[in-house]
Amino acid sequence: MRNRFMIEGVSVSPDHFINGKRVSSPSTFETRCPFDWANKLADISRGDAETAALAVTAATNAFPIWANMTSAERRKYLHRLSDLIEANQEHLAIVECMDMAMLHESLRLRVIARGALNFRNYADLASEHTERVWSSKGTANRVIRHPAGPAVIITPWNAPFMLSTWKCAPALAAGNTVILKPAEWSPLSASLLGDLIEQAGFPPGVFNIVQGLGSEIGNALVNDPRVKRISFTGSVATARVIGKAAAENIVPFTAELGGKSPLLVFADADIDAAAKKAAGQYDDSGQVCMAGTRIIVEDSIRDIFLEKFHAYADAHVLGDSRDATTTMSALIHPTHAERVMGFIDRASAAGDIIERGGNRVGGSNFIEPTLIIPRSNDSEAVQNEIFGPVLTFQTFSNETEGVALANSTAYGLSAVIYTGSAERAERVGRVVRGGTVWVNTFLVRDLTAPFGGIGISGLGREGGDYALDFHSDLKTLQILEDSVV
Ligand code: NAD
Repeated sequence: MRNRFMIEGVSVSPDHFINGKRVSSPSTFETRCPFDWANKLADISRGDAETAALAVTAATNAFPIWANMTSAERRKYLHRLSDLIEANQEHLAIVECMDMAMLHESLRLRVIARGALNFRNYADLASEHTERVWSSKGTANRVIRHPAGPAVIITPWNAPFMLSTWKCAPALAAGNTVILKPAEWSPLSASLLGDLIEQAGFPPGVFNIVQGLGSEIGNALVNDPRVKRISFTGSVATARVIGKAAAENIVPFTAELGGKSPLLVFADADIDAAAKKAAGQYDDSGQVCMAGTRIIVEDSIRDIFLEKFHAYADAHVLGDSRDATTTMSALIHPTHAERVMGFIDRASAAGDIIERGGNRVGGSNFIEPTLIIPRSNDSEAVQNEIFGPVLTFQTFSNETEGVALANSTAYGLSAVIYTGSAERAERVGRVVRGGTVWVNTFLVRDLTAPFGGIGISGLGREGGDYALDFHSDLKTLQILEDSVV
């Protein structure tokens, strides 16, 4: 076991959490603070195929214990974990802030609390769930949900705590044991979760956390034939690789992937609200899968919209994520900042107009809020996910053209529409492509609603019963009526 280290007064383990114990690996990888790159936070255990096998063995052995509990019994553990997250909110918030650069204020006030809610919500949903029973063709029918087995949960570096809890909660509530592998660029909040799992008294092996690189331990986990579910959030490229492993073992696989969502503004909208929300897409430096990164505005309001948009974008303050006055922090990693700059440089070289921003600040991980006016809808900046503070701006002359532009990429994660017309909201909301479509609002979520992408934005749905169904083997039991007493 390696020594724990301190982040802003919080003690964090650099090791895996397997079978209820801390386990270290001989080699390590480092994690640094994105907004202060010289600040190396820690060396973290770098799991390999052996670590993966150890974790899957622990989850396999613990499965009968956890699966055979009633959902009311499992609920007690999950509620305890939820209470512990709430009690440790400040610690989780500051560590996540240093590791991933999400704004401290937003973590303290919203994000960590949502992590606690994820466990509470799924625990309640699973224990309140009743089996569907009906009569048909002379038989009494019943749908029974059986826990499926060990589930591998793989998460990306953006919103690490929120996404890990959102994805692990339904697996555990459904009776599956879990091996969580967080991303190597933001591993620390998952490590703190390991401490809370231990304090919540989960049976050893029910909830395991392993650290390391996707190509190493991640790859070993998804190829282990003992794994019965793979739930992945990340990039399209990685989903293609994991999908092949899932196909090989015939394992159900969900993929929550990237987006290139439109933010469609009609002339009848509240233009100020729309412009403010559009500039808000720079939040978290644009590292938000659902962000409405393609701003598409009706011709007649082009100038007034742009004037208001620039005023709101100018108000962004780049800086240290701990500072309450900061509204936009750094990108996660220099490699990612270079990737984002590559999109801007190629757009400029190809003849797109860099309408605002476009610069990396002093060789750091900060990039200015950038707006690109593309030379055509085929521009790479319009068609590919950039995942940085880079938005595109296009205009349309009528509703049909606006919808066509909105629906013109291979992605389909979400869409945002601004309009003052109820009829248009209904009409356009139905035809715009996206797993979630918001009208005059953004990011409002009901945890029981289905969440997922269309096209290359994903496979399957999370949220409410959709996630519980994914993590279960569904059985139909049919008994001939009046044949038994
Ligand atoms: P990524 O695909 O590079 O990595 C995601 C995770 O997969 C990491 O934990 C990584 O270690 C692991 N991984 C990589 N290769 C693997 C392999 N061969 N086998 C097993 N695991 C492997 O993605 P990223 O850069 O961390 O995240 C950014 C992407 O995630 C963006 O495209 C973003 O839109 C998407 N995202 C989607 C949602 C959603 O809900 N749809 C939410 C957040 C982020």
